[in-house]
Amino acid sequence: MTATGKINVQTENIFPIIKKFLYSDHEIFLRELVSNATDATQKLKTLSALGEFKGEQGDLTIEIELNKDAKTLTIKDKGIGMTKEDVEKYITQIAFSGAEEFVQQYKDKAEANTMIGHFGLGFYSAFMVAKQVEIFSFSHKEGAKAVHWTCDGSPEYTIEELDNVTQRGTSIVLHIADDSEEFLEQARIETLLKKYCKFLPVEIKFGTKKDWIKKEGDEKETDPDSYRDEVDNIINNPNPAWTKKPVDLKDEDYKAFYKELYPMVFEEPLFHIHLNVDYPFNLTGILYFPKLSNKFETPKDRIQLYSNQVFVTDNVENIVPDFLTLLRGVIDSPDIPLNVSRSYLQADGNVKKISSHITKKVADKLDELFKKDRADFEKKWDDIKIFVEYGMLSDEKFYEKASKFALVKNTDGKYFTLEEYQNHVSTLQTDNDKRVIYLYSSNPVDQHSFITSAKDRGYDVLVMEGPLASHYINHLESKLENTAFVRVDADTVDKLIKKDEEQISKLNEEEKKTLQPVIESVVPKEKFTVVFESMSEKDNPMLITQPEFMRRMKDMSAMGGGGMNFYGAMPDMYQLVVNSNHPLVSKILAEKDAEKQKQLAKQTADLALLSQGLLKGEELTKFIKRSVEMIN
Ligand code: ADP
Repeated sequence: MTATGKINVQTENIFPIIKKFLYSDHEIFLRELVSNATDATQKLKTLSALGEFKGEQGDLTIEIELNKDAKTLTIKDKGIGMTKEDVEKYITQIAFSGAEEFVQQYKDKAEANTMIGHFGLGFYSAFMVAKQVEIFSFSHKEGAKAVHWTCDGSPEYTIEELDNVTQRGTSIVLHIADDSEEFLEQARIETLLKKYCKFLPVEIKFGTKKDWIKKEGDEKETDPDSYRDEVDNIINNPNPAWTKKPVDLKDEDYKAFYKELYPMVFEEPLFHIHLNVDYPFNLTGILYFPKLSNKFETPKDRIQLYSNQVFVTDNVENIVPDFLTLLRGVIDSPDIPLNVSRSYLQADGNVKKISSHITKKVADKLDELFKKDRADFEKKWDDIKIFVEYGMLSDEKFYEKASKFALVKNTDGKYFTLEEYQNHVSTLQTDNDKRVIYLYSSNPVDQHSFITSAKDRGYDVLVMEGPLASHYINHLESKLENTAFVRVDADTVDKLIKKDEEQISKLNEEEKKTLQPVIESVVPKEKFTVVFESMSEKDNPMLITQPEFMRRMKDMSAMGGGGMNFYGAMPDMYQLVVNSNHPLVSKILAEKDAEKQKQLAKQTADLALLSQGLLKGEELTKFIKRSVEMIN
């Protein structure tokens, strides 16, 4: 006998409202229905294990069937099934009351749209794409009768019991609505299944596919040219690596899983971290440190978030600290609330704990790699330093741990920990104020001559390059006691590290005063300050330096450091340092012909500009012409 019923909802027209809200994310209906099928199957396995279900489990594969002619999509499981009472209780009362609640709560909120995909609407979401939904179900319970429920999207439904059904489980038949026919496309469904169901714990079959299965007498393992067998098209891997114990996995298994996650990425990961926590929150997963190719990063290769093996999102903002969002891999945690907005997520206690747990695990892993194989760690350092430096800048706890293994590299390619470096340079590079001066270069090619002079002095020069360098330097200065960083071209080599050393100058004050305006006349005034310094005769006659403080402020403001716009707006300022001990400088001074004197000064200043890459355009053309004439 067929009965009709009325779903007990207050809003008669909740369907159109929901449908409108869910517009952008219709596809999640499939995730919800396949998840329900999976749950029902898992429940059967549990009951069987407990001895409460005594029948044969049989093949438990979930099947997805597409019938284009009938315009139906069917999700079929062999799980616990439902009786008529179950359907009335769980589907018409519970499922629909969930939907009702949703509408009441979010009717007026624009936010609903962004969080919809995370709101476990469950069974109800079928109505986003179907004009009619049928349930055929046969419960595992002894003596149960099969049931058929149908509903066309209005609050009315029909329900009847069926005879002669032998297959346990539930089939959900969706009669796809006219505006949702994209979900009758084979390719679309396959893509969705691969996106959301790739690692569900029960096998999911979507039609068949042609394959080559090795048989006795075959010479090859596979033959890509001839697919002679028709086999089930199983969408998912029900036992992904992260659900296994680390002891059962080899390095190859982790690498193979990386490939499974990111089939389009060819570089192997540098290393992985297997996460496995069950208290005070539940979390499993595998994180990979990728080798980042600086050219282009496809933003889709990101950490994927799962909840009990159901794909949720690959936007893990707020769950994973910012500096680790460039990592890859999987995090699976049923304890991350999915049905909430981002601002709530940030405040959630579990999420905070998860985030700091991940940070700690990453630090521990790096520490372990550093201690276990220093040489290998050094090899990887250039690839991982962006993560480590970013982490040290943004997370105090991470800094504490990382400062033990973070490396710095000098211009000879030698690596030091921060402590080792302090010991390495403190004898020669301590200044008058007892500060240890770390000399660094942001570009060893451009700053080659400065590096050479510093090294001739016995100083060591670090390479500090990359997008975070200026922030990182500032941060280290604030952390390391009595230590300052000075870029190698910030001053002449004698003054980079200030020491009390008498310097004898060949030129007296009078002579300097005479020469000053001559030299000032050959460079643009607003950019250059001319200063005299007593350097060695072997040093260059003139050189260009850029004072540390000013340059750093400009760098930071270019990076978007707050409150530094003042410096950003300033022009670049340089010093033109004249070596008062160089014979050429004496020669310029001695030249009586004013025109010739100016030309000599100009030529010498241009050489200094040239070595800093500052001589360009017309000035460069003139310089070359002048040089050719001089050689002639
Ligand atoms: P949720 O899954 O979040 O509980 P749903 O609206 O998706 O909410 O489903 C409501 C209930 O209906 C489920 O809790 C379950 O008891 C029942 N149910 C749904 N789908 C199935 C199925 N395929 N097999 C057995 N029971 C099901």
